[in-house]
Amino acid sequence: MQYFPLAINFQSQSVLVVGGGQIAFRKVTSLQTAGAKVTVIAPNLCQALQGLFEGKKINWHQFTFEEAEQFHLPQTLQKFKLIICATSNHKTNLTVSQLALDSDVLVNCISQHEHGNVLLPAVIDRGDVVITVCTNGQSPTITRHLKRQLEAFVPTNIEVLSRWAESWRAAIKQKISTAEERQQFWEFLLSGKIKRWVLANNTEQADAEVKHQLQQSQRNLGQVFLVGAGPGDPDLLTVKALKLIQQAEVVLYDRLVSEPIMQLVPSTCERIYVGKRKADHVLPQTNINQLLVDLAKQGKRVLRLKGGDPFIFGRGGEELELLSANSISFQVVPGITAASGCASYAGIPLTHRDYAQSVQFIAGQLQNNDNSIDWLQLANPNQTLVFYMGLSQLSHITSQLISVGLNASTPIAIVEKGTTEHQRTIISTLADIVNTAAKKKLNAPTLIIIGQVVQLQTKLDWFT
Ligand code: SAH
Repeated sequence: MQYFPLAINFQSQSVLVVGGGQIAFRKVTSLQTAGAKVTVIAPNLCQALQGLFEGKKINWHQFTFEEAEQFHLPQTLQKFKLIICATSNHKTNLTVSQLALDSDVLVNCISQHEHGNVLLPAVIDRGDVVITVCTNGQSPTITRHLKRQLEAFVPTNIEVLSRWAESWRAAIKQKISTAEERQQFWEFLLSGKIKRWVLANNTEQADAEVKHQLQQSQRNLGQVFLVGAGPGDPDLLTVKALKLIQQAEVVLYDRLVSEPIMQLVPSTCERIYVGKRKADHVLPQTNINQLLVDLAKQGKRVLRLKGGDPFIFGRGGEELELLSANSISFQVVPGITAASGCASYAGIPLTHRDYAQSVQFIAGQLQNNDNSIDWLQLANPNQTLVFYMGLSQLSHITSQLISVGLNASTPIAIVEKGTTEHQRTIISTLADIVNTAAKKKLNAPTLIIIGQVVQLQTKLDWFT
């Protein structure tokens, strides 16, 4: 770390900005937000700075720095807590920096930071909560990129949460004696419904819940987050899913959760693989349900990460029933289901005004008999059928559909490992797909899409 980050109180302190352009303007406004009194030296001001001058918000010395002789004296420069060189003139920047350094005043040289001794990090200003990003002046691009990511991640009214937390700090400290337990309690407050209530300005409900929790002799702070991880591409995670992944203490995941998504799980988080390949459940479902309850009862923040959407062929409902019966608090975060993800990345719109007015998602993994599927109502040429878990039943599915009246030439697509770098799409007809698929030697997971919309794939494929 070449520069030590520091937050300085500039309230009513004098700061000098040399330069009158847009960059100078941005620094001036940022300093003013922090309460600084700003003096500008420049022969001309840009329109925005001119506005500040006319509104008496800044002092302006209308010279070049070279002409402003009194500013070359240490006693003048030392009146300023910070000097910023924001001119486009290399020589001027150098002169100002050198004089400032000789006078022991902090100086930042915006375009040539090596001339000064201070960097100005990128700032995300959310009132009491301020986040800064600094790359030792090496990479403005990375700074901007990180800043944008953080901006999207931090609630705009995070200040409300910060003030609310402050209002409870003393009471919580008094009631919970050990630092470790307090830390756990804060994590509980700041990751679940209480945080949500505060950010929605419902502090009454949040306060009542904290009071209630503090009165309990035995607090259960464990929570389970049932989170959809989408079909594979980590960029298809929701912002909420990503936040919860980063905060998890233990994660239960199965085969469908892609490796790049697992790489986002913090290294401190315990990982439990619970399997779920066809007929290869590392842990039977009832054990998974129980494990979630047990871990939450230990006070852990448990992430139950599932491929796609947890409520679409994901048995998410079953896992939640036991949590609910045990009064464990939980949240559900939807994910992009395989049908949406694979169809989008294969260039197959699931509905289209000319071809399909409806779409059905069907579990193709049939039990001993297939009475559960009403084949007749699937035989509608104006709808799209999406079969999950259907590859091993492909021959049965296609022959049943033809037998109830779908044309044997109906287009069909199989998307293998959709949305990942290994995605493959195979296009054929109901009559021929079994042969085509056999030749391609497909690997799980695969999704079957049937209907006239499939013919658009040749035109709309953008991903492969
Ligand atoms: N909850 C998941 C579905 C679980 S069932 C969701 O909403 O997507 C598992 C089936 O989903 C697989 O057998 C396969 O048919 C489908 N599937 C999931 N991810 C897939 C992917 N990346 N590519 C193709 N099919 C996928």
